Amino acid sequence: MTNQKPIKLPVAEPHLSVDKLYQYLKGKLSATAANQIEQHLQDCDLCADALEGLSLASQSDTELALFDINRYVKKKSILKKDHAILRDIKNWGLIAAILFLLIFSAVVVWYQANQTKINTTQPAPPTETRAPLQVPTPIPIK
Ligand SMILES: [Zn+2]
Repeated sequence: MTNQKPIKLPVAEPHLSVDKLYQYLKGKLSATAANQIEQHLQDCDLCADALEGLSLASQSDTELALFDINRYVKKKSILKKDHAILRDIKNWGLIAAILFLLIFSAVVVWYQANQTKINTTQPAPPTETRAPLQVPTPIPIK
């Protein structure tokens, strides 16, 4: 089982920038800086792959591709923000529905309570009121 690739621990320091990798490729770095980059490349597959890719393509092509990628990522992140707003609107709809149910049930309870109050109070007097009896005044006898 010696074929297994050794597990590399995550690199603590930040990844190498494209500019730094180009400087390394063109041999523009000091011996110390180049040594630091080589140490990072031994521990970091991501930067090693990036360096390999940079060595295959021209710098202008890479910068153009990077510009496109950054623009794409920015666009995606803006779309994601839109989805977050939509999700919030959905949540607001749910909150509105719950509030509506609460208010509706409160109105129903209030209505029921008022109905029972009317039923328990004394029966209302008959609305039909009789006119007082007109007693004919006796005619005085002379
Ligand atoms: Zn790295």
